Amino acid sequence: MSSRESDQLIERLFWLVRLRWIAVIGVVLTVLFADRVIGLKLPVFPLVGITFILALYNLIFYLVASRIERNLGGVQRRVERIANIQISLDLMILTALIHFSGGIENPFIFYFIFHMIIGSILLSRRASFLQATFAVFLFVGMVGLEYWGVIPHYPLLGFIPATLYNSWFYVAGVSSVFVTTLYISVYMASSISNKLREREKSLEEANRLLEEKDRIKSEYVLRVSHDIKEHIAAIQICVDPVVEGITGPLNAKQKDLLERADRRASKLLFFVNALLEITRIKLTRQLKMESFSLLEVLEAIKEDIKSKARNKNQTFKMEVDPSVDRIRGVRVYIEEALLNLLHNSIKYTPEGGAISLKVEDRRNTLRIEIKDSGIGISTEDLPHIFDEFYRAKKACQLEKMGSGLGTSIAKKIVEMHGGGIWVESEEGKGTTFFIEIKK
Ligand code: ADP
Repeated sequence: MSSRESDQLIERLFWLVRLRWIAVIGVVLTVLFADRVIGLKLPVFPLVGITFILALYNLIFYLVASRIERNLGGVQRRVERIANIQISLDLMILTALIHFSGGIENPFIFYFIFHMIIGSILLSRRASFLQATFAVFLFVGMVGLEYWGVIPHYPLLGFIPATLYNSWFYVAGVSSVFVTTLYISVYMASSISNKLREREKSLEEANRLLEEKDRIKSEYVLRVSHDIKEHIAAIQICVDPVVEGITGPLNAKQKDLLERADRRASKLLFFVNALLEITRIKLTRQLKMESFSLLEVLEAIKEDIKSKARNKNQTFKMEVDPSVDRIRGVRVYIEEALLNLLHNSIKYTPEGGAISLKVEDRRNTLRIEIKDSGIGISTEDLPHIFDEFYRAKKACQLEKMGSGLGTSIAKKIVEMHGGGIWVESEEGKGTTFFIEIKK
């Protein structure tokens, strides 16, 4: 079972627990309302006592679910077993509550249907029908024992004639409608829930196939771009000595053409390297997380960015909360994501502009803000900024060198670390990229 399925099952257990808290509050309020406001003479003590038992085992199931969540393993069976126990206990509690508040004369008997629906969602079809049979056994047992006087009948005085429980017609009529309602509701709810489960499974399968196809495509891209890279590198190795005049003098025309070829080869190499990088990241299934000092990374980045900014007469300011230090992640990747965004800031900010990097400590997360006073991004381009190969027109005019992969690489890296990345920008004013990652 995949970890997503286990998470879903556990989420359902927590859902059951949450529903039961609502039931506890509901029963207490209903008993108080019936007793204080309507003035029904209810045996309040047993009713509150039973509700207390309900609350108590709900607390226990909450703790059990939390423990399962902590150590997943053989989850499905355990969750089913626990859900079965919980629903059986709920049915017993409901029967006891109804017994002490009018038995078959209590209109709340139809609340058994809720348990049938919940059971059909959580359990297999067979188990849901078994739970329905258990509910029928409890209900018919309670009604029968009250009818034959084996257990006392607690009437809802002031609400309904107190002799109904003793009328054969009434008892048989209500019981048969009740029993058929239970089975029909289980049949309907489990049919719907089975269909939904099947659909969910086929969607998951389709998703898995798509992921597999994507992986094959990425492997192909990796191989091809690797080959291209080798060839370009070989071309450059051949061209460089010729351009530098090592192989003999060149006339101006020859030199110009060769230099242009060399520049093109450099651009292509830059692009292929970015393509290789993003494909490698895509193919990484799981990151080998380690604890490292973000502060050290920031210090190392600072020097590089400062000198690049200085070349364009830009200012670079770095502001880091004093509590920021170690985080868990892959150091080289985090460094790469930050560098990509900072290099963009320098690239897309004209001479004399300002670049800043701010790191804010927000208890469990870090908020990193990379801001520039550059050309900004238009509202049409903004939604596509993280798309692979996307470059805004204005950006292309300002800077020829670019692959359109830097922001996608940063996004992939941040998401692999379980974080989020987004951008705010105003054309002509500047751009701010935000990254939020867990520590
Ligand atoms: P590129 O190689 O073109 O820089 P990126 O993936 O790094 O590719 O960025 C994609 C596009 O997002 C850029 O072409 C540019 O249009 C826009 N962009 C990214 N960062 C900035 C920024 N700081 N200011 C303005 N535009 C930006």
